[in-house]
Amino acid sequence: MTVIDGKAVSAKVKAEVAEEIKKLCREPERAPGLAVVLVGEDPASQVYVRNKKRACEACGINSFEYLLSAGESEERLLELIDSLNRDESVDGILVQMPLPKHISPARVTESIDPYKDVDGFHSQNVGLLTQGTPRFAPCTPLGVMRLLAEYGVEVKGKNCLVVGRSNIVGKPMSALLLAADGTVTTAHSRTADLAFHTRNADIIVAACGRPGMITGDMVKEGAVLIDVGITRVDGALKGDLDFDSCARKASFITPVPGGVGPMTIAMLMRNTLRSYKLRKGIEV
Ligand code: NAP
Repeated sequence: MTVIDGKAVSAKVKAEVAEEIKKLCREPERAPGLAVVLVGEDPASQVYVRNKKRACEACGINSFEYLLSAGESEERLLELIDSLNRDESVDGILVQMPLPKHISPARVTESIDPYKDVDGFHSQNVGLLTQGTPRFAPCTPLGVMRLLAEYGVEVKGKNCLVVGRSNIVGKPMSALLLAADGTVTTAHSRTADLAFHTRNADIIVAACGRPGMITGDMVKEGAVLIDVGITRVDGALKGDLDFDSCARKASFITPVPGGVGPMTIAMLMRNTLRSYKLRKGIEV
């Protein structure tokens, strides 16, 4: 059994991005730029934004931070996005979710230039991903695919189960596994017999935010188990897998923390570089 080291793979991805930027962006060529917009003072979001800024610095990406007060109007936010869409020094735009209740996340997502949508949430990018020709795929599922590739896990022909069908994790995860020729099942809260599906799966990606819900007796011997779930329980971070019992059955397993978590920001750096290259007509 191998415990997948997300921190190490994340560091490797960021080093690759930094290396490529060093080669591509020699003076007077500008560096890629990522604009991060935060509305309000949600402490968890503030931490994410800070971490994104740090990752940008490490990779040689220019980061532009826009901190708006919680009471800011939707109109003002859409104006800001419009100006970032037109700003040539900005390749990627990310609006940190969740947004205050009076702002429509759908309207905000759709207002971002789809060529700068490094989160991959715009309907145009969702459509391209569903067609199997992604421009930008969402960062967390992309990070899972990179972990599988890094550890030599073949997806082709495998029974893959994704537990969760959110727009940011479950659905794009299923689409990426399908594009990699997996035979994909998507489970959700209305799935009748989850254990039937988990026992049949060669690869399980758990993304339901139900700590410890998937236990060792529910998985088959030698399965590859990827845990996207992060829930704070009594001050500690817990995944959706019951780690100890699942690890006894798995061939590969990700821990929480230190598995999928660190991959999300690394893939955001990758997507920002990808956006820069696409916009400059450089082959990706
Ligand atoms: P979400 O929007 O709440 O979606 C949860 C999904 O799980 C829903 O599709 C829901 O089904 C399904 N679900 C809930 N209870 C279930 C059950 N008992 N059996 C089967 N499916 C069930 O959450 P999310 O944004 O996708 O995030 C999922 C987890 O990943 C959370 O713990 C989140 O913190 C974590 N996460 C981690 C990262 C990272 O960087 N590692 C990034 C994003 C999210 P319905 O659709 O039927 O309601």
